[in-house]
This record gives sequence, structure tokens and C-alpha cells, in this order.
Amino acid sequence: MDELQDLYQEIILSHSRRPRGEGTLDPCDCSEEGYNPLCGDLVKITGRFDEQGNALEDLAFSGEGCAISRASADIMVSMLKGRSLEEVRERIGQVTGKLTQQEEPVVDLAVDGDLAALMGVRKFPARIKCATLAWHALEGALRAAGKAE
Ligand code: ZN
Repeated sequence: MDELQDLYQEIILSHSRRPRGEGTLDPCDCSEEGYNPLCGDLVKITGRFDEQGNALEDLAFSGEGCAISRASADIMVSMLKGRSLEEVRERIGQVTGKLTQQEEPVVDLAVDGDLAALMGVRKFPARIKCATLAWHALEGALRAAGKAE
């Protein structure tokens, strides 16, 4: 179990130190900033839709924050970039739900990949808002663009 925790920590640190999804899309079709006063994390999400407006063709995050908030934003970009908006909305709900629900979510590193590592944050309740920040910001960006469902 400790080995798994170490592995989760490695994944989080790797995403926060060498994020592939960091940047700002300009121009963009949707954007939103999120702030977590508990930790001081600031994240800005920018996204572009495809021509039909049905998919999140490109997605990026920028900002300043702790390793968890940055890793979570980077994992989100890698998971959602290129997906249909329907799938994006569904995934946002699933991930924020799993991070905050009472019962322990069932996650498997082999199946859920980096998302499993992100769920390791649940062991530190004070840091859960760091992990949900980017996801809520993307949700807000979609809502502001009239794509919230
Ligand atoms: Zn934080």
C-alpha cells in the first residue's frame, strides 16, 4: 500500500513539474479562472471548441498553485482534450464526485491511470479543493459559453 502511495505521489509530481497541458489558448472559445483561498491556488482554463461546437478540440491551463492543483489541471487536460462536450461534462461530474463523495471510490491504476493517483488526495481532506479547482473552473468556462447542458 505504501508503494502504491509512492507511485501516486510520483505521478502527481511528474504532472506538476512537467505539465504537457500548460499554456493559454489565444484566441479561445471559453475561459474561466478559479481561485482556492485555502491554499492560494490560481488556475486559468482556456478551451476551444470544434467547428460544430460539440467537442473540446483544445484545452490548456495556466496559473500558480501547489503541486496537487497543477497536477490535477494537467491530468484534466490530458483526459479531456479532444473529447465531446457530452463526455467532458460527464467526466467533470464523475471526477469531482469521486473526489468529494463520502465513500471511498473504487479506482484502479491500471484502468483509471493518473486519475487513480489524483484520488490519493482524498487522504488529505484539506487538499481536496486543490484537486477539484481546475475541474470546477472548466465547468464554469463551459457554463459561461452556454455549453453547460
Ligand atoms: Zn493547493
